[in-house]
Amino acid sequence: MNHTVSPIGYLRSCFQEKFAIPRQPRLAPAARGVLELVPPFDQAHALEGLEQVSHVWLLFLFHQALESQPRLRVRPPRLGGNQMVGVFATRSTHRPNGIGQSVVKLDAIEPGRLWLSGIDLLDGTPILDIKPYVPYADAIAEASNGMAAEAPDAIAVEWSEQALQQARQHGQRLGEPLAELIEQCLAQDPRPAYQTPTPERRYGTRLWDVEVRWHYPSPECIRVLEVVPAA
Ligand code: SAM
Repeated sequence: MNHTVSPIGYLRSCFQEKFAIPRQPRLAPAARGVLELVPPFDQAHALEGLEQVSHVWLLFLFHQALESQPRLRVRPPRLGGNQMVGVFATRSTHRPNGIGQSVVKLDAIEPGRLWLSGIDLLDGTPILDIKPYVPYADAIAEASNGMAAEAPDAIAVEWSEQALQQARQHGQRLGEPLAELIEQCLAQDPRPAYQTPTPERRYGTRLWDVEVRWHYPSPECIRVLEVVPAA
């Protein structure tokens, strides 16, 4: 059976590129975005009752990871990126139908738009559906996952004086908790697990309209070097 799906909206997100997006939602509470609904879902009727809900599930397309040939096995970063497991045992972006799911906080509702936080989605992500989080059914106290039992260990993040000042200034301009966002995302240690970073090597990513650059003075610590307008 073939069935066509089409987006009910698109996410405007703080994450302008894939690198340094947390690997699951809620790891960076300061990661915010706006889901802009498209007609006819932008009408008030479609959102009636949603004000009673604190969190929602987003079903979405991994639009920057779509592939024509399905993979049966993948190498999850969580296992160091060198061990293969079945695709259905993972939350890999490489999936048969390219569908992702994230539970995120619903901060505010406006006509045709939802303000969300704790997101792990790229800017422009097509959203296929929204469902309310139902605590009694969705939270399973005795659930286990041997491959990902707990959130990954956080790495220490320190700032150069200049970078912290820049982050605060840009945060104020954007009306966003930018310094917190940078700290929460970098604490996830975005570099591939197989890479041992040298202090000379520079890393960077784009959040909102700024470029964040950092390095690893030692493998256990990140130092934010600068936060400048993106080119
Ligand atoms: N929580 C979702 C899930 O379990 O289906 C996503 C998990 S996936 C491991 C998270 C990663 O997907 C992020 O770190 C980011 O690099 C990537 N990502 C987010 N949005 C994407 C998009 N629209 N297209 C491709 N990759 C995306």
